[in-house]
Amino acid sequence: MVIDIHTHTGNKPIRSTLNDIAASMKAYGIDKSAVSPMRQPSSSMLIAESKRNLSANDARFLCFLRFDPNRVHVDELMGISNGFDGFKLHPRSEKFNPLDKKFKGMFRFFEDAGKPVLIHSRKEDYPYSDPVMMLKLAKRYAGTNFIFGHFASDSDRFFDDAYALDNVFVDTSIVSSPKIIEFRVDSFGADRMLFGSDFPFSDQEIELLKIKKAGIKDSQKDMILHSNAARLLSI
Ligand SMILES: [Zn+2]
Repeated sequence: MVIDIHTHTGNKPIRSTLNDIAASMKAYGIDKSAVSPMRQPSSSMLIAESKRNLSANDARFLCFLRFDPNRVHVDELMGISNGFDGFKLHPRSEKFNPLDKKFKGMFRFFEDAGKPVLIHSRKEDYPYSDPVMMLKLAKRYAGTNFIFGHFASDSDRFFDDAYALDNVFVDTSIVSSPKIIEFRVDSFGADRMLFGSDFPFSDQEIELLKIKKAGIKDSQKDMILHSNAARLLSI
């Protein structure tokens, strides 16, 4: 069983439907994909797209709710998050500082929901998606499992600081390679790494190949490709 923890539906900048993801999954032997909307013009459109994915009621998809935390009050979250397997946050696209105290209620809600939070993280031209800075979230909300997207930019400082935090995970999308995965499995561990493609922004076959080609044990590949995600999502 192979689980891709990071895929998207949407229209812009690239069109991707559940059918497109399913066709790719079939072609490359991926059994389940966690899916959330890509960037949308408004929070209500993010929520509508998240709900559309959920209403497909297709066991191949694990649906993550994406919304703009600036626009959704914590009291509304209760009503809209029913049935989702996790939450997707994108501080750069939705322009928010996740460490701002005003989002405390939202993170407490995630903790109570007991579902993982996939958070976009990258060293890029935006301060609030910095993986090292966002580790404070994992310290503050120790009851939530955080999956840092894009291999936390493969930041040395991130992996050093995250080592002691057992609620911190990374996905392998975009910013990793077979050798980088090998190196981080040795120093950080395979038990906190999840296969993610960021489809359609990357390609499931290419992203899968990075793990297959890494010089690590088969048992470690199985953790990255399947068992870590299965544990986090209780499947
Ligand atoms: Zn993403």
